[in-house]
Amino acid sequence: MNKNEIAQILLKELPEYMVKIDEPMKNHTSFKIGGPADVYVSPSTVDQLKFTIDTCKDKNIPYYILGNGSNLLVKDGGYRGVIIHIFRNMNDISVKGNEVYAQAGALLVKVANTCLDNNLTGFEFAHGIPGTIGGAVFMNAGAYGGEMKQVILSADVIDKNGKLITLTNSELELGYRTSKIQKENMIVVGATISLEQGDHNEIKDMMDDLAHRRRTKQPLTLPSAGSTFKRPEGAYAGKLIMDSNLRGYKVGDACVSEKHCGFIVNKGQATSKDVIELISHIQQTVKDKFQRELQLELRIIGED
Ligand SMILES: Cc1cc2nc3c(=O)[nH]c(=O)nc-3n(C[C@H](O)[C@H](O)[C@H](O)COP(=O)(O)OP(=O)(O)OC[C@H]3O[C@@H](n4cnc5c(N)ncnc54)[C@H](O)[C@@H]3O)c2cc1C
Repeated sequence: MNKNEIAQILLKELPEYMVKIDEPMKNHTSFKIGGPADVYVSPSTVDQLKFTIDTCKDKNIPYYILGNGSNLLVKDGGYRGVIIHIFRNMNDISVKGNEVYAQAGALLVKVANTCLDNNLTGFEFAHGIPGTIGGAVFMNAGAYGGEMKQVILSADVIDKNGKLITLTNSELELGYRTSKIQKENMIVVGATISLEQGDHNEIKDMMDDLAHRRRTKQPLTLPSAGSTFKRPEGAYAGKLIMDSNLRGYKVGDACVSEKHCGFIVNKGQATSKDVIELISHIQQTVKDKFQRELQLELRIIGED
């Protein structure tokens, strides 16, 4: 089935503005890299999301869920199938007492600001992570001693049989940058986080402090996908890379950040090929020098 035929089937139920053909993925990833998706859909309701997934499964069309694209490298040849973007069209946030429910497309910064507005503490750590709630549950995102596992009460997900179910914190099997969502190809529709009442100024100070620490330590002015590698046990990927004399090492416009060696940055026109070649070079160099294997945190999809 070609991309026009796929789009036609989806357009039977979805409005025209929601379905695009040949959408450049570089416009939807923080790396600013990535060729076109054959078909791109941005649902605004759970029914539209389910319809898109059911259609893809029924017709045997590959699909991939995209959040804010802040942990993703899409290859230059783009994606053959349907990219389902759970983002701005599905980003409602509501507060009930100490609990905050956010749809999967809500950005963590918006959720954190809602917590601040309601004097709720416990989510400050997530303020500077540039992902969505869906991506954060999938990755069990974390920073500065906090992680999603500490605050999630439950998540509404579409399971592998296409059923909408609610998983509790322990059922989500959240570990270091891992979750049941990853293992079982589930899709997050929304999540409830449970927090505590706190002092408005203290919450604000904490958020400001963490933002300041990020600005001074991370290359936030250049496109990247955050930490390229997971933290190896008992070590830091950035330090191993720095101690391998790779600070500033470049392949094309893909470069080991001079500010934080754990990040690869796009200095302008980096291609996915540049990034992948740089990743291999880093992994090999660190292995030769320190006998350590660096595992990717970054996810890579698409065609060369
Ligand atoms: C400057 C910078 C700083 C960062 N700092 C941190 C940090 O401190 N801590 C940290 O943990 N991460 C950090 N990251 C990485 C990234 O922001 C997180 O991994 C984030 O959780 C990814 O969310 P996303 O919405 O962008 O997901 P995407 O990058 O769009 O997707 C990541 C994965 O999640 C899946 N996914 C996304 N949404 C859903 C959904 N609704 N249901 C099921 N699967 C879904 C995708 O299929 C994909 O496999 C940073 C990134 C950048 C660019």
